[in-house]
Parts: sequence; structure tokens; C-alpha cells
Amino acid sequence: MISKTGKDFDIIVITAEYYDDHPLSPSGIISRVLDDKGYKIGIIEKPIEKEDFIKLGSPKLFFAVTSGSIDSMLHNYTPLKKRRSEDPHSKISLMPDRALIVYCNKIKEYFKSSTIVIGGIEASMRRFAHYDYWNNDIRRSIIFDTRANILVYGNGEKQILEIAKRIENNLSLKGIFGTCIISKELENDFDILPSFKEVKEDPVKFCEMQKALSNNKNLAQFYDNNYLLQYAYPEYTQEDLDWIYSLPFSRKLHPESLLKMAKFSVVTHRGCIGNCNFCSLRLHQGDKIISRSEESILKEIVSLTKNKEFKGYIDDLGGPSANMYGMDCAERCNNDCLKCSKLDKSHAKLIRLLKKARAIKGIKKVFVRSGIRYDLAIESKDYIKELSEHHISGCLKIAPEHFSEEVLKNMNKDNSRFDEFVSFFENLNIGKKQYLRYYLMICHPGDDEEEILKMKNKIKNLSNIESFQVFTPTPMTNSTCMYWTGINPITMKKVKVIHDYKTKKKLKRIIIEEIKNN
Ligand code: SF4
Repeated sequence: MISKTGKDFDIIVITAEYYDDHPLSPSGIISRVLDDKGYKIGIIEKPIEKEDFIKLGSPKLFFAVTSGSIDSMLHNYTPLKKRRSEDPHSKISLMPDRALIVYCNKIKEYFKSSTIVIGGIEASMRRFAHYDYWNNDIRRSIIFDTRANILVYGNGEKQILEIAKRIENNLSLKGIFGTCIISKELENDFDILPSFKEVKEDPVKFCEMQKALSNNKNLAQFYDNNYLLQYAYPEYTQEDLDWIYSLPFSRKLHPESLLKMAKFSVVTHRGCIGNCNFCSLRLHQGDKIISRSEESILKEIVSLTKNKEFKGYIDDLGGPSANMYGMDCAERCNNDCLKCSKLDKSHAKLIRLLKKARAIKGIKKVFVRSGIRYDLAIESKDYIKELSEHHISGCLKIAPEHFSEEVLKNMNKDNSRFDEFVSFFENLNIGKKQYLRYYLMICHPGDDEEEILKMKNKIKNLSNIESFQVFTPTPMTNSTCMYWTGINPITMKKVKVIHDYKTKKKLKRIIIEEIKNN
């Protein structure tokens, strides 16, 4: 049972976003998973006053606290650190800065003895010492500031069920895969990261830490007289995802929900093999693909056609990068899949899925609105044809991000097949009102007044620049490490970095001018 009113709950979920009973909502998916195992779940969304925190009483097992699908600082501030006057995602901006810390301290104030579990992207990407752009300083793992009992990183369905079982049976919370705890002792089989003190004082040590960060290892970091212990991430299988996404989500959305445009979206896989240095996915959802079974996805689509609000349109069929469905590899080694000859880049499973999905009775159109990796899609011209003819309406969004080799190298991106993709797509759509739209990023480490001209010159011949963003150093990414240390942690080579507001504004003006003239 999941409810926003009542008492005597086993677990109370506190979220900085509105709660949606939807598979794309972090609090929605965790609540459904716990509910399916018979736990009574209370929901508190966007609490402010004392009454908001205490209205459901104290949970029998624990509070589960999340800022939702976005870090609260990223939510509340622009890339140039201006406080967003109006919350971009919902009309009412009720998300406090550092929401996890604020909420957990309130719980400690009103429910001293309650157990606190933190999760979601803010916890996940602040689980070790990290550079905080908004403080312009190194902060310790967020588990210390929240005084939480345990931190869940990545997608947390398996972890939260194990935690509930352990607390229910008064068992220790040590040793749960995919979690972090504070421990006086260092357990066996842990790789030791440079300590908090070392990474705070020495940029080279900070890079060493960054390079060693992984979801696939037991890692330990020393703080004053404690260790922060990370247990390696659990293996999520196709069966796990099929079960999670088969749960009876009502898809009822809060009136101010972020998910309005994605109400009838279907997730096909998790993980991303793109490994872009500015992205948090590698250390959150993971850098290997886990695909759902075709049967499970088609079954979900059939069930959506029975939803009385369904109008025949699947809003999106995809994942972090839509065209990585089916690119699972049993080897799960640590190499870069995109550069590996063993990776099946045929898109065959995806093309078959798309064909079957759009043939389902009651389906008018299946949209693919998640971004695609065009440098992967170019490997399968059949896939691009399928997409153009059946699954987009008017535009396909791709993210070349930049056109300077220096910047792309630091992003770990390759645009060598960009022109080939653009001309193939444009030839395919001659006479049709279908266009490419481009995502670009400026001020990433490596960028400066010289490199930006390479983007300016390239976009001269490009129309439809969807948007360009100013790089924001979010916690625990390789690019953020470059931003803070001036060193690329992978190559350990020095990198040019723009820190000052004036130069960032100047680069922004150059691109805005060019887009205007375009
Ligand atoms: S063998 Fe290749 S495709 Fe498979 S996990 Fe390793 S790098 Fe990726």
C-alpha cells in the first residue's frame, strides 16, 4: 500500500520532487518495488514546515530520502550559478539547496532514533569526496553531512529491498552491494582511495581518486577516524528489469509533474556505453547495457493501450541513449565498448522491437524522443531509415557537443562520422519536413576563445541548433575533476580550463551571435 496520508507505515519516502506513480519517477519506482513485497509505504513530497515532516508519524523501519532525478543544486542554479528565479521543472520551486542534507537534519530533529536511508542522484554522485561547484570547494561524502545510516547509489531497487529485510530482522547493514556506509574498521578486499585530506590538499591525489572510481569495486576512503566503504554494485539482470517495469504503475501524475510529456514512455534498457567525461551515468546507472526482454516491453505497451487516457501514442521508447537497446555484452569487461569489435552494433534487436511495437493494436505511433548516439547509429543505416520513417516527427536530436578536437578529446567524444551521419539523414529526408537538431556544450575543459571558433565555424553551416549549454561541473565526473585540478585524470595531462564568469559569458555571446546570424 502506498499513501500520502495515514500512519503506521513501514517505510516513509521523502522526496524533493513531486511523487508520481510512474516508472520514470525515482520515488515512484522505489515505492512500487517495496509495495510489491508487502511493505506499507508513506509518501512525503517537497516538505517545508515541521508539520510536513511529522504528518505520517515515525516509520517502523526507516525513512528513505531522495532529491529525485536531479541534484538540488543543479535544479536551483543556472550553469553560471545564478539562482533560477523560477524552477525550470515545476512552477513552484520548493526544492531547498542541498535538499538531502536539509531533509535528513529535519528528520534527526523530529525523529532522533529513526534510521535514514539516502538515495537518488544527489546521494549517488556525492558518495565520495567531491568537488562542489557551488561552494567552489571539496566536500566530504554526503553520508557524513546527512548523518544517514546508509547510502544507496545507482538505481536502488535491489538495495532497498535488502535494507528493508535486514532492518526488519535487526541485522547489520554492512556488506550490502550497491551501498555505502561509515565504518571504524577497514574490511578485507577493499581498494583504498586517497583519503579525504589528501584529495582536498593535492590535485594529483584528487585525480588518482577520480581515476579509481568505479561501480564494480569495493572502495574505501579514510576520513579523520572513519572509513567510507562502498560495496560494489549488484548485478541487475534482464529478469530484474522485466519485473521492475511490469509492476502496476497507475501512471497517475502530480498536476505539476515533470513527467507530463513522458506519461506513456517505456524504458527499454539501463546503462550507457558512451562514457562521456561530463556525464554522471557511468558512476550512477553504470557503463554497461542491461536490456529488458522484447516480450516484457511489448507486454507493457499492450497494457498501456488499455489505459483510458491513452490516445495511441507512445511518448518515448528508449533509455539513456535510445539506440543502445540490445547492446548487452556477457563479458562485462572494463574496456570501452564503443571502441570494441565484439560489440554488436547492428541495431538488429532494436529494429525488430520497433517494428513489433508499432504493429500493436491501438498504437498510432511509437516516438523515439530519447537522444540517440549518432556515431553508433551510423553503423546501421537500416536503423536510421526505421527511425526517420516511423519514429520521429519533424526532428531528430543528436549531441555532437563541440567541434574542436581538443575539447572533444577531453569530453571523450568522437565526431569523425558527424558529416557522414548528417548527409545520410538529410538525403534520406529530402522533400520531407524532417530535420536534425543539435545539442552543443561550451566552456568544457579544453575550451577557450580559440577552440570556440571551431564550433562557430562549423555551426555556420548548420541550422536548427536545439540548444547549447554552458558546461556545469557536476559532482564526481571526470570533466569536473579536470575543472578543479586542471588535469585530465585519464591522461594526467594538463588541460586549459575557464573559471572566470567574464570569459564564459564571452564564449556564450560568440555562439549566440552565430546562431542569430544563422
Ligand atoms: S568485450 Fe567489448 S563489448 Fe563486451 S563488455 Fe568488453 S568492451 Fe564491452
